[in-house]
Amino acid sequence: MPDLLEALGQGPVVCAEGYLFECERRGYLQAGAFVPEVVLEHPEVVEELHREFVHAGSDVVEAFTYYGHREKLRVLGKEDILEPLNRQALAIAAKVARETGTYVAGNICNTNVYEPGEAAGRSVRAAFEEQVGWAAEAGVDFVIAETFSWAGEALLGLAAIKAAGLPAVVTYAVHREGTLRDVADPAEACRMAEQEGADVVGLNCIRGPATMLPLLGAIREAVSCPVAALPVPYRTTEAEPSFQSLRDPVRGGVQAFPTALDPFTCTRHELGDFTTAALGLGVRYLGICCGAGPQHVRAMAEAAGKIPPASAYSPDMTKHSFLGTAPGINQSYREYAPNL
Ligand SMILES: [Zn+2]
Repeated sequence: MPDLLEALGQGPVVCAEGYLFECERRGYLQAGAFVPEVVLEHPEVVEELHREFVHAGSDVVEAFTYYGHREKLRVLGKEDILEPLNRQALAIAAKVARETGTYVAGNICNTNVYEPGEAAGRSVRAAFEEQVGWAAEAGVDFVIAETFSWAGEALLGLAAIKAAGLPAVVTYAVHREGTLRDVADPAEACRMAEQEGADVVGLNCIRGPATMLPLLGAIREAVSCPVAALPVPYRTTEAEPSFQSLRDPVRGGVQAFPTALDPFTCTRHELGDFTTAALGLGVRYLGICCGAGPQHVRAMAEAAGKIPPASAYSPDMTKHSFLGTAPGINQSYREYAPNL
């Protein structure tokens, strides 16, 4: 198996994310706290979801350690589960990756305690170092540092990954205003990460396909390494460019994030279109974040030229009883189709 960079040199790589939202939707994880205790309480659910995403076309099994870091668990009074949670998440991901011939990735993410300056930086760096250490011991192929709205925090995570001698994928979260919190231009933040040794840089989460795509060209131009794009599968707009900013008119304009985003969900075809457009811009590492379902992942993989196992069940509407054209479809039913 080629390493990640060799694979990216040969063609697109697909990475399914979004485990937090999907485990919440299935009833195994609490919205609000959003801590992945499910890896300890229902490891079989996480393992199955990894398998579903690989079946749908993910080339990467990302260990479900999102928000499983010391700072988040300290706030919730659950520091005692920190190490078992991380080790278990990594073991589950490594098992599925081994059995399916995919990459296993460690994960670190925004701590939500970071502020520019030395004081907060020390504890954030320590939180990253211990997580990356567990990932290295689990034998990950690379580490994903994701969903950072502070470039400074992402660079602390990156430093921990490089110190462990592992390849790093660094993706930023660009909120409503289109900037990071400490660097105005996301492309500049990506350039900084590349300069500090990131192997892949780009964006993940927060923005849907329609509002992430316009940011990708500038990133492609700013760096020479592979570029990543992993939007959320929601219909964000220029007026509501992030999934947190979406307001549901049917429910009196309430905020849809995080548990009422269903009516804004993109179709699989929109993710396929996004993939084609992003590939056209030179993006090579593609995925989907919070809200991703296997149908989205399959559409992305297929648009990237892959034939995952789930493609055996991709739609063939020629066989449909009313809408189909295959021999044997009853003619009178076909004629009735406009009345459906
Ligand atoms: Zn996300």
